[in-house]
Amino acid sequence: MSQKYKRIVFKVGSGVLTENNKIAKDRMLALVSLLAGLKSDYEIILVTSGAVSAGYTALQLDRSIKISKKVLAAVGQPILMSSYKNKFEIYGIDTAQILLTEDDFDSRERTEIFRQIINTTLKHGILPIVNENDISTTEEQLFGDNDQLSAHVTYYTNSDLLIILSDIDGYYDSNPSQNPDAKMLKIMREITDELLTQEEMPTHEFASGGIVTKLKAASYLMSKDKEMFLCSGYDLKSAKEFITKNIYNKGTLFTNKS
Ligand code: ADP
Repeated sequence: MSQKYKRIVFKVGSGVLTENNKIAKDRMLALVSLLAGLKSDYEIILVTSGAVSAGYTALQLDRSIKISKKVLAAVGQPILMSSYKNKFEIYGIDTAQILLTEDDFDSRERTEIFRQIINTTLKHGILPIVNENDISTTEEQLFGDNDQLSAHVTYYTNSDLLIILSDIDGYYDSNPSQNPDAKMLKIMREITDELLTQEEMPTHEFASGGIVTKLKAASYLMSKDKEMFLCSGYDLKSAKEFITKNIYNKGTLFTNKS
């Protein structure tokens, strides 16, 4: 059977990875076991949030203070990575930590560097785990959210698909947390400027994205003829079925292909 996708980027948000200010270990394990299962047939790159919330488990600083947030990220990044490492080890998989900033996408030389790093880790069976390096950087050097970072990673690593694992199970025709009659859209072929410029606040304490950054990520990828699938990070069935069987009951596919 020919595979539709070969190289896939997964992005998981802090809402999925955190529960009550702690890493949600069972959800992380479910994700790791999905990726471990897919790894024999697909090349997998993981973009993960969660460093700031992981840092908060060790040190309760006020994350609304810029420097405190950086300290939390510095404390939390190794906690997050060791949590992943322990779980991937169950499946005999080694991981690499790759920290990027928006600046890394600025020049051909720089994109070439991380493309080669990712290609080499994948070639050796190592699973690259990417996060935004928001520790020793200024706001101007950052995307500020991992949705757009992961879209850029998808394009520049020649990946075929970005899967966004979210706290919501798809994209709705209006905000489902405000409108109980909101309907999930199975497919989006176009994203209007109006949707991209709508004001939207991140939905929880550690979130930096929200639905607008996901739409921006999708719009960027569609402009590059790539696809994005937004689905639940709590129940990974949709992600798995979409990749392995090309079917899905829940989730939204953003594509410009007919
Ligand atoms: P994550 O932490 O997974 O990155 P966010 O919480 O930042 O996710 O963004 C997803 C949230 O965006 C949903 O839980 C929902 O409350 C909100 N939202 C606003 N508008 C929409 C919409 N049209 N469709 C889906 N979710 C929406």
